[in-house]
Amino acid sequence: MQKFLHLDEISAGDFPKAIAKLYDWLGYTTTIRDGFNDNYIDIIATKGQKNLAIQTKAYSLNFDKAHAVDKSVVNGLHSNLKDGQQGIIVTTGVFTSPAMEDAKRQSIKLYDRTAIYQLVVAANPNLAAEVLYRKSLDELNLSRCPKCHAGYLAKLYSSKKDKYYYQCLNCHEISYENQLD
Ligand SMILES: [Zn+2]
Repeated sequence: MQKFLHLDEISAGDFPKAIAKLYDWLGYTTTIRDGFNDNYIDIIATKGQKNLAIQTKAYSLNFDKAHAVDKSVVNGLHSNLKDGQQGIIVTTGVFTSPAMEDAKRQSIKLYDRTAIYQLVVAANPNLAAEVLYRKSLDELNLSRCPKCHAGYLAKLYSSKKDKYYYQCLNCHEISYENQLD
């Protein structure tokens, strides 16, 4: 979950595993290939007649020297495809225009983060809902519940008692400020 919640923090090593997991959930049999000598292919995913050769590029957009996936990646993958294999390149970053042109010509699919989240929704709707839920709370900076440790605490105000209290969004436990500090 953390991986899909914070795409920009995902490591180059974890990214192929996270993408392979999505294809597992979609019913594919996946194999992750060695990162060093992978011939431009990180994951082989098969289901029936479908045979996907997937290259992944975790390029954080937070990095101040982030670079785009260029056409050398597209052409590298294309030259390593076997007959009947569909090439796919997945990135958390962006593709250069020449990369997009070559991919179109070679029928290679390019998946950016919009497509990554479409895959998450298709592969695991509960995970997608959890990511959305967490994103909706992220900017509120809520504390974790001291009781269940899973939920977040909503800070509430009781005008009747004229004081603040907390209620866990997960276990619904009520606590008062003095118990937390
Ligand atoms: Zn709780």
